[in-house]
Amino acid sequence: MSARTAALCENSCDTPLESPMHKSSKEAAVEVRDSSIHGKGAFVSDFLESDTLILEYTGELIDRKTAVERDNPDAPDYSCYILQVDDDTYIDARLVEHPAKYVNHSCEPNCNLSRDGTKVFIRALRAIIPGEELTYDYEYAASENLRCRCGAPRCRGRV
Ligand SMILES: [Zn+2]
Repeated sequence: MSARTAALCENSCDTPLESPMHKSSKEAAVEVRDSSIHGKGAFVSDFLESDTLILEYTGELIDRKTAVERDNPDAPDYSCYILQVDDDTYIDARLVEHPAKYVNHSCEPNCNLSRDGTKVFIRALRAIIPGEELTYDYEYAASENLRCRCGAPRCRGRV
């Protein structure tokens, strides 16, 4: 049995109590594997209740100017893992190996984003069963016009 300090969540999630993640240890219950939507996806291996904070979207905090520069396939530091936090704050996850960056877009997602300052969490919109792929709506501007293959009955056809 490993040593554990009193400051940690009593649900054995090994996360400090002051962290919004302490509600669950679900970081460990997500695995990355090939997705039918796009590339790799994040799949849960445990039952998740609605409203659970599942993963924090971790990475480098960058400003809008940097985000625009990196959002270019010709850029030396090109990244397709940039998430917008607010008007001038973005998180670039290209250098971190964390399941949150692999959560795909769906037009009928089972998660949404929950923002807390410059922290962003992926939160369950409903109960999610083991084996389901996690998705949220990227809500890209229409101008980006990326074709969507999420497979949802009401897919709007673009990401
Ligand atoms: Zn779609």
